[in-house]
Amino acid sequence: MRIDIITALPHLVESPLSHSIVGRARAAGLLDVHIHDLRSFGLGRYRQIDDEPYGGGAGMVLKVEPLFDCLKAVMAESPDIPVDEVIYMTPDAQVLTQATVNGLTLKSRLVVIAGHYKGIDQRVRDAVVTMEISIGDYVLSGGELPACVLVDALARLIPGVITDAESALTDSFQDGLLDAPMYTRPASYRGMDVPNVLLSGNHEFIREWRERMRVEKTRRIRPDMLGD
Ligand code: SAH
Repeated sequence: MRIDIITALPHLVESPLSHSIVGRARAAGLLDVHIHDLRSFGLGRYRQIDDEPYGGGAGMVLKVEPLFDCLKAVMAESPDIPVDEVIYMTPDAQVLTQATVNGLTLKSRLVVIAGHYKGIDQRVRDAVVTMEISIGDYVLSGGELPACVLVDALARLIPGVITDAESALTDSFQDGLLDAPMYTRPASYRGMDVPNVLLSGNHEFIREWRERMRVEKTRRIRPDMLGD
């Protein structure tokens, strides 16, 4: 999968996508991430990328021309892999779910736009953006961290990226439940004991216990996931 990220702050994106599972996926050639600096498409001597909003009010808006020019340049790279979705990270959109992430893993190429300040000129959203994603009902100062969140969620589902030990399929949300509590050695620490069943070696009991814990935990913390 190829992901092109368009941002005014490339450094903010590079580091989170260079370590751990995402870093490994990139190093192994399973995920091809390209980070594009919007500033190189800025206007004039000062490479202007933002301007005051029409109609007044506080904040700055990312301009239409640099975004269009950058998108055009991005599309021209590797034209053999057509872009499946142009995604704008923004709080005024549907909130990202595991189901959306699962669906996106079927795509070959995504372009992700990180906004800044007050957001981006609406004409970009109307004309080229095909999908808008929020990472939650709160407002951040830029779309860089949301873009990294999306890429991380995607990378760990690409076949071959995650090892069995990290198995993505048993994580929360994959089957509509939160994950079970996890423990590792030692079995007893300062009077806190690991549940006996996990030490029993009986895989059937362990499976049942985990399933029960998942349902109980989901009912307690996220009853909405059970439709309650
Ligand atoms: N004026 C906008 C907020 C802009 S926040 C509004 O009220 O809806 C600035 C940038 O941060 C946005 O362009 C977007 O790219 C990013 N951003 C902020 N919060 C986000 C969220 N919850 N999900 C995804 N992107 C977000």
